[in-house]
Amino acid sequence: MVAEIISVGTEILLGDILNTNAQYIAKKLAHIGIDVYYQTVVGDNYDRLKAALNIAFDRAEIVVLTGGLGPTKDDLTKELVADYFGQKLVFNQKVYDNVEKRGFEFGLKEISESIKKQAYVPEDAVIVHNEWGTAPGMILAKDGKAAVLLPGPPTEMKPLFNECCDIFLNKLSGKVFVSMNIRLKGPGEAPGSEIGEAPVADKIAAFLDYKNPTVATYAKPDGCIIRVTAAASDREEALELIAPVISGLTDILAPVMKEVYES
Ligand code: ATP
Repeated sequence: MVAEIISVGTEILLGDILNTNAQYIAKKLAHIGIDVYYQTVVGDNYDRLKAALNIAFDRAEIVVLTGGLGPTKDDLTKELVADYFGQKLVFNQKVYDNVEKRGFEFGLKEISESIKKQAYVPEDAVIVHNEWGTAPGMILAKDGKAAVLLPGPPTEMKPLFNECCDIFLNKLSGKVFVSMNIRLKGPGEAPGSEIGEAPVADKIAAFLDYKNPTVATYAKPDGCIIRVTAAASDREEALELIAPVISGLTDILAPVMKEVYES
């Protein structure tokens, strides 16, 4: 299985921002066992992005794209990828609700047509809802080709890409992936004992650099989740890799832990 990464954004081409998204995605794909032979950076330009997409799909089965999912006219990624897969864009109420909620929280008086544009998604795409921003992650697949679309801001891109790995990319790699989750107590469950994602991440900082298993935090409305995921040749081996990590996390987090479960 071969993947390519396309980072979309004129800011990257101009050197205004560092392409940390490509680094994150490349590392994770290597960990999963999906080969990457090419990465492309392309500006917010219809013809050049279209050409880059065609070239990438000539060489790879999977193309992961970041950026260009926002509300402005030069955000073209979703439209181009939908065209490539022959899919229409359709209104998605759940995505809209999130866009609207965040818009009002951000101080907007009304949701303009351009902002509403983010609620249109390719008709057959798997939608990965964005709890950290507005544009959702999307997975499109057809005839042995798949595109994974992710928003540009790293704070949104990372959790959404992790989710795309869990629900889609891991299955393509030929390895067995096992995830154990630690759910922490949420707001109201034990007053004073709940803990947010940022302090959790600080407490377990050393674990977040682990390669196998990987350890990631997810903020959910009913409490924070820590997911420990191992890649191995079989389930037994994966569980052996996970066990000491769960035990190390438990040593630190026991007072705020609610349950441990497999997903
Ligand atoms: P938005 O909805 O915020 O507009 P978007 O998907 O359209 O998101 P861009 O507008 O392309 O994304 O980028 C938004 C911001 O995300 C950039 O200003 C930059 O800070 C960050 N960003 C984008 N691409 C990358 C990248 N490849 N690496 C690191 N940061 C990036």
